[in-house]
Amino acid sequence: MFADHLEEIRINGIKASPGICIGKAYMVDQEGVDIVERYYIDKQHRSKEVKRFKAAVRKAIDELNEIITNTPEEFQQHTGILETHMVLLKDKMLYDKTIQLIEAERINAEWALKRIVAGLKSMFRNISDTYLRERTADIEQVSDRIMRNLVGADKVNIGAIDKRVILVARDLSPAETSQIQLERIKGFITDRGGQASHTGIIARTLEIPAVVGLRNATHLINNEDLLAVDGTNGVVVIHPSDNTLVEFEERQQRYEDYLTLITRESHHRAETPDGHYVPVMGNIELSEEVVSVRDHGGEGIGLYRTEFQYLSRSEFPTEDELFDKYREVVEVMAPLPVSIRTLDINGDKAIGTNGNDEEPNPALGLRAIRYCLKYPELFKTQLKAILRAAVYGNVRIIFPLISNTQEVEDAQKLLQEAADELDRTGVPYNGDIEAGIMVEVPSAVILAEELAKMVDFFSIGTNDLIQYAFAIDRGNQNVAHMYQPLHPAIMRLLKQVADAARHNHIGVYMCGEMAGDPYFVPVLLGLGIQELSMNPLSIPAVKRVIRAIEADEAKKFVNQALQETDVKRITAMVEESYGSILAEQIYKA
Ligand code: PEP
Ligand code: MG
Repeated sequence: MFADHLEEIRINGIKASPGICIGKAYMVDQEGVDIVERYYIDKQHRSKEVKRFKAAVRKAIDELNEIITNTPEEFQQHTGILETHMVLLKDKMLYDKTIQLIEAERINAEWALKRIVAGLKSMFRNISDTYLRERTADIEQVSDRIMRNLVGADKVNIGAIDKRVILVARDLSPAETSQIQLERIKGFITDRGGQASHTGIIARTLEIPAVVGLRNATHLINNEDLLAVDGTNGVVVIHPSDNTLVEFEERQQRYEDYLTLITRESHHRAETPDGHYVPVMGNIELSEEVVSVRDHGGEGIGLYRTEFQYLSRSEFPTEDELFDKYREVVEVMAPLPVSIRTLDINGDKAIGTNGNDEEPNPALGLRAIRYCLKYPELFKTQLKAILRAAVYGNVRIIFPLISNTQEVEDAQKLLQEAADELDRTGVPYNGDIEAGIMVEVPSAVILAEELAKMVDFFSIGTNDLIQYAFAIDRGNQNVAHMYQPLHPAIMRLLKQVADAARHNHIGVYMCGEMAGDPYFVPVLLGLGIQELSMNPLSIPAVKRVIRAIEADEAKKFVNQALQETDVKRITAMVEESYGSILAEQIYKA
């Protein structure tokens, strides 16, 4: 068999969706899109070249329309992303600018598009927010689609594949991913993409293994090559040896048994053996992800990141558009809570029409609440949509990146103004909702006692809190090793937040990535964090660990751990006290 003759190659990428699969490669891309040549156009042929570009865009729109129409019922939830792609196709920054470049420099449409997209990508790459930064994938997918039409290259129609295969692609757009027939496609791997890309999000929703960001997989793999894919660890083995195949098959079986077990119990309450109930909720970026939260036993939405709807478009969304999206989520989850976080973007121009000049340090710039307070009308549009959606269920509002008391006062004042304006127009709304803040800037921790008197709850955002506490860019590989949630510096910050919340009788929740790692559950229980919110797939495992840990013991454990000054020591303590319980409860494929 193949595996005996060809040398095994292991490549590492980014884990996009967990699980293991073994199968034959199916190459999705065809040649022609990568190699683009530049040539000049005669003056009299410029308008013809512009027409050729417009026709390619029109064809792309027709293709997307067709995909939306033909998308099976169960995947209709994902077509919102395709609509965003349609908007992007005609976005001024892409469409108008490419036409201007063809006309100004008399270059061919392919080359003009390539240059405009390169500029847009570098602009997006400078955005500090991981989620937004990874939206460059959307721009790439849209430009690939136009490019394919320009050069006349076709992509394989994924919906028509009739074999049990593993897809291999440079990139898969959400449109293509949503065409995947679960009974045929075992998994997929791509050269491009990050964990927070839409393709990864959809792969997790489909629950098929996926590895992205492999860089050169399409160069190393040929059609029909045997592949073993480990989506849990982000590893792909090309031409696996017989030994590797046996190892992967065993791990696949164990992982499937584990999934069956935790999924069966994922709808049970997460209550510790000594009777502390901890609601476990899901984080979502798109309204369609609520389904996954419910399916995995999520007891609410602890964080609804609302940025996505503002991106990839030349105009900001209207109040009605926002209201429709929020209402959808709120109704599906009712009576469980939906915590809608107000817009968390920085001031980059790429975001929309109200952008400012580019900032040298966007993470330290006009981001999130700072941006919203600078543009109160934009902010009130969102606040009104949230208040209106609150009529249909249990809504909480979260203000992001709060760093002082003035911001809370200003945000609350605008929330009141939004309610007053709705009053005047007679539009139904519910102003009786809980309002809290993200605690993710060290100054907010220092001011936690004062802030706790102003709000209904704290939601700790460890992704940013760790970034700002250690002064490390959360997306920078070079300092990633310093990202240590168990570091005494972070443990003390968390304790200070939890204590201030308790003294002032308000809720203290966590929605940063730390909350979704079952390994940290003992520490979070011991600190007294009352609710945990995470990516939906992590919910069953976290609930399972909560059911195995005594909260009172965890409290004593944390008090001891807080005496330590070395992260290695705290890590060793977790291992000594909880290593065997955690190993029993969590299966790492
Ligand atoms: C956080 O900072 O931990 C958080 C949950 O928010 P985001 O990842 O969206 O910045
Ligand atoms: Mg944050």
